Amino acid sequence: MTSNAFLTLGKATDGELITIDVVNSGKTDLSCPFCAVPLIAAKGLVNIHHFRHDGETCHESLQQLPQIPGWDHFHLCAPDFLVNVLQNYAEAHPGEVFWYEPKHVRDLLKHNLIETDSYTGKYRLTDAALIITGQLSLSKFSNWFRRQLTARIHRKSQLVANNELHRAHFEIEAWRQQQLMMATTYLFELTLDSGEVIYKVGRTRREVNVRLAEVMSEMKAHFNQDISTKVLRLIPYGGYLEQYVLYRYRLSKREIGKHQEYLSLDASALKQLKAAFTRVANDLAPFDKDERFIATGRWRYEPKRLDAVRKGIRQTIQSGSSFGRPKGTIKVGGEEWRKQYQYVIDLLEAGNLTQEKIARLTLNSTSTVKRVKKVISKETPE
Ligand SMILES: [Zn+2]
Repeated sequence: MTSNAFLTLGKATDGELITIDVVNSGKTDLSCPFCAVPLIAAKGLVNIHHFRHDGETCHESLQQLPQIPGWDHFHLCAPDFLVNVLQNYAEAHPGEVFWYEPKHVRDLLKHNLIETDSYTGKYRLTDAALIITGQLSLSKFSNWFRRQLTARIHRKSQLVANNELHRAHFEIEAWRQQQLMMATTYLFELTLDSGEVIYKVGRTRREVNVRLAEVMSEMKAHFNQDISTKVLRLIPYGGYLEQYVLYRYRLSKREIGKHQEYLSLDASALKQLKAAFTRVANDLAPFDKDERFIATGRWRYEPKRLDAVRKGIRQTIQSGSSFGRPKGTIKVGGEEWRKQYQYVIDLLEAGNLTQEKIARLTLNSTSTVKRVKKVISKETPE
């Protein structure tokens, strides 16, 4: 399936993926994630900024990267006519979660957009159907979306393990998911000198105040007047919610020049949105083991770790000794040790918490956290 897709990600020597946005035009020290040929950044005025191969272009890099439903689009791959049917239904019956029309039942069932409710025996709209119309609450969307992300990782690592998919596809997926999970979704309020109030929903991986200052200066320049700003709500580790919030509030979008992601809200819509942010920030379950593997970036080291384990076993077999550690001791840095301090390691690798905070969260002493950090920073130089 060759298309006119452009390669927008390059791989640095340390394995990190880098977007075209953050490199200068011309030769780079990046290589193609698929074929490892060096890349040249093409940042002209005509085409979408992209990477060219400094050599023969590989086939893989010309393929469209798969989209993430619930992030890149909200039709969730349902046929257009069913999307329309659902939109019309939502407009005619706002807030309705049951399906009362005899028409389209078979198609809706086939695409998992309705299901039989076990209590009432009626047809009930599924989470997917409610996402398509933007009616599912943020909290419920969060649960749905996180399940999708985990399933995508499982599917891709399985395909890679079976040699049916290039490992770069897994890496790009994991990298994208990590960007979304580790970001904060924010709601800012901007009051213009003229009295007009606008709202901005966005996400950032940096300090929120740094982003707020940036937004303020952009808007000052655009409106050419003074602007006061306020952080209204934050959802840390909820960057993946940004696009759904914007989709839910798509009718309130306020386009400001080339700037997107601004909303005009009346008092009741604002109250609702603030409440939704508060609820989801409070309800957010901590990342589970599979999610931490992605969010902390540990997926990067997995192939190296597996190689090391394999090599270690081979050497042990060759030297004729047996596996395992002497009973009663835990080898610092060993597997058992890692298990014991896994939560500490995850938070350290996330890299955005102080050692004191990590100690408090994991019920360890600060000196333990320091010791763990010393050991793992020797293992994975960054
Ligand atoms: Zn290539």
